[in-house]
Amino acid sequence: MDEKIAVAIDGPAAAGKSSIAKALAEKFGYIYVDTGALYRAVAFFASESGIDTQDEKKVAECLKGLKISLEYKNGNQRVIVNGKDVSEIIRLPKMSMAASDVSKIKEVRAFLLDLQRDLAKNNNVIMDGRDIATVILPDAKYKFFLTASPEIRAKRRFLEFKEKGIEKDYDSLLKETKKRDYNDSNREIAPLKPHKDAIIVDSSDMTFDEVVRYMARRMEDQ
Ligand code: C5P
Repeated sequence: MDEKIAVAIDGPAAAGKSSIAKALAEKFGYIYVDTGALYRAVAFFASESGIDTQDEKKVAECLKGLKISLEYKNGNQRVIVNGKDVSEIIRLPKMSMAASDVSKIKEVRAFLLDLQRDLAKNNNVIMDGRDIATVILPDAKYKFFLTASPEIRAKRRFLEFKEKGIEKDYDSLLKETKKRDYNDSNREIAPLKPHKDAIIVDSSDMTFDEVVRYMARRMEDQ
C-alpha cells in the first residue's frame, strides 16, 4: 500500500480549525477528521448514561459499553455512538465543556488513540485537534498550530451560534473560551501545545481565505 499523507492541525477552541481543515481537505482530496467530535461523543455518552463528566472513575468505566465510529457522507464526517448518529447533538454548547472534562482522563485518551491512528493509516488525512502532532501522528508530514486571540475566537463562536439560532452572550463565551484554553493547556496528559516543528498560524488578523491560501502554500512548498 502506498504511503499515506497526514496533515495535523492543532490549536485552541474556536481558532477556525474545522472550517480551515475542511477547505484544505477538499482542495487536496484528503479526508477531514475532526477529533474534537470524538471527545464530544464520549462526553455525550457519559451524560446520557447519567454520569457526571467530572467523575473520572465512572467515565473511564462507562467506556466498556461505548462504541464510536466515524462515517463519511458526501465528504462530511458523521459520528456514530453505539449505532446512533450523534453528529448534531454533540455540537450543543454544553457538550464543549463536558468534552474538555473527559479529555483529561487517560483512559479516554487511550480509548480514542487507535481509532485516530487507524484512520491515518488507511487514508490521506487532515486531522484537527489538540495533540495530533505531539501525540497521535508525530510523523505527520505537515504540522500546523492554528490560533487567534481569545476575544476573536469568542466573537467567531458568538456569530456561529447566532447563525444557528442558539442564544449565547459574548461575555460567557469569552469566559468559557479562556477556561477551556486553561483546561486544555494545563492538563497532565497530552496538553495543548505546539509541536516543536509546527508552523504557527495566528489568524487573528487574517480572513478565512487568507488562512487557507497561506496553509495550502506551505503544504505545496514543502
Ligand atoms: O475541537 P472541539 O472544541 O470540538 O474539542 C472539544 C474538546 O475536546 C476540547 O476542548 C478538548 O478538551 C478536547 N480535545 C482534546 N484533544 C483533541 C481534540 C479535542 O483533548 N485532539
